[in-house]
Amino acid sequence: MAKAKSNTLKLKFDSARNYAPAPESKSAAKINARYDLFINGKFEKPASKKYFATINPATEEKLSEVADANAADVDKAVKAARNAYGKTWKKMPGKERAKYIYRIARMIQERAREFSVIETLDGGKPIRESRDFDVPTAANHFFYYAGWADKLEYAFPNRNAQPLGVAGQIIPWNFPLLMAAWKIAPALATGNTVVLKPAENTPLTALKLADIFQEAELPPGVVNIITGAGATGAAIVNHAGVDKIAFTGSTDVGKIIQKAIAGTGKKATLELGGKAANIIFEDAAIDQAVEGVVNGIFFNQGHVCCAGSRLYVQESVYKEVVRKLKDRLETMIVGDPLDKNTDIGAINSKEQLAIINKYLKIGQAEGAEMYQSSAAIPSKGFFCRPTIFTNVAQSNRIAQEEIFGPVLTIQSFRTDDEVIEKANNTPYGLSAGVWTDKGSKIFNLTTKLRAGVVWANTFNQFDPTSPFGGYKESGYGREGGLHGLYGYVRF
Ligand code: ADP
Repeated sequence: MAKAKSNTLKLKFDSARNYAPAPESKSAAKINARYDLFINGKFEKPASKKYFATINPATEEKLSEVADANAADVDKAVKAARNAYGKTWKKMPGKERAKYIYRIARMIQERAREFSVIETLDGGKPIRESRDFDVPTAANHFFYYAGWADKLEYAFPNRNAQPLGVAGQIIPWNFPLLMAAWKIAPALATGNTVVLKPAENTPLTALKLADIFQEAELPPGVVNIITGAGATGAAIVNHAGVDKIAFTGSTDVGKIIQKAIAGTGKKATLELGGKAANIIFEDAAIDQAVEGVVNGIFFNQGHVCCAGSRLYVQESVYKEVVRKLKDRLETMIVGDPLDKNTDIGAINSKEQLAIINKYLKIGQAEGAEMYQSSAAIPSKGFFCRPTIFTNVAQSNRIAQEEIFGPVLTIQSFRTDDEVIEKANNTPYGLSAGVWTDKGSKIFNLTTKLRAGVVWANTFNQFDPTSPFGGYKESGYGREGGLHGLYGYVRF
């Protein structure tokens, strides 16, 4: 009897985790077997003569290999950017620069499907997210900053804003195309030229962007794309010809960069780690809040610096929220990132999966109670079930340190003052979320939470017009909106 029932389950679509597969086709993704460095408008072989593989974390298969740029390659790219800055880009009227940026935005839209598939293959994120979030938001950033390029005197009235020169931009692996857009678009709009290094795990969409720069006939050298790991990033940071460093990544590397540029006169914006509090009050719309918490921590496998990784629930609704969260976890589909049904894709790398698993062990050893969904996960590739910890103490490492995975800690609270204190008790300060029916509570918390972004009755909402950035160990400087222009101008 029981056997017959499980057979029918396999064939029918009768539970949330038994949807028929709906895979996106890989045919949209044209990936070369090997990529060189994009310097001065052309793909050039690296002086290092070295290449390294980039793999699909969902299958562990090699997708391509990319150049490992050394200091000589970085020097070449910086010189190309300097030359383009002095000879063309700085002198070009803003309204002409805007046309190029606008063209880039349009081309990303036209090739959205290809970008989404490549982003998902290279990084492991669900296709639904790369298609509906990463790629459209990247295009929107270019559209938005195209609009500012000829209006800088309105952004900074009577201040005669001038570009800085060459911007060295170093980005992480969690939102590869979007982080490239966040960095390149405002730099170009303000008249700077760029040397950008994507993360070593996810270089492919930045290299695809180089194709677009060629097609858009962006003057050679205005944007150069250099691939490599930490040593390549360090060569950009330490190059004397770079005027500004824009970095998104770990707090540890942020600190290294800050030390390296101290006393050099280089400007910097650093967007670093986070450990955001997501706070549910008893008067909140509970179902909506639970959905927001799920989005807050499980979006992009929790590889999000502003992820709502610490949940605080008011005591009177604590049991209800935990029960509803556990039920909701059971409906989440973990697996093939190319499947349109998938909620949680692959963890970005073997190393990151090891870090997450290390924290799962630490949490249990600290006495917290771990609950994981019973979702099936593929036998190959790097996957982690959605996980929540209850019985967590404020001092536990899982509540203090950034895990960067689909792992949520849950604690209860009684009063507003108590939760504000707990929420702020972290070295980070990037984002926070508040769920309540009361406007007065929202205003009280938004003024007292030390976080760059505070979402109210929503989470993980991004818009190019809205600035983003942190306090404390989450870094400094803002990206997005009018504020995002400040990091690229001097007066
Ligand atoms: P994550 O923990 O997200 O991998 P990292 O800070 O290690 O964050 O990496 C973010 C980016 O910084 C990547 O592009 C990486 O190659 C680069 N990077 C790593 N180490 C250094 C360094 N010492 N100097 C400059 N860039 C670095």
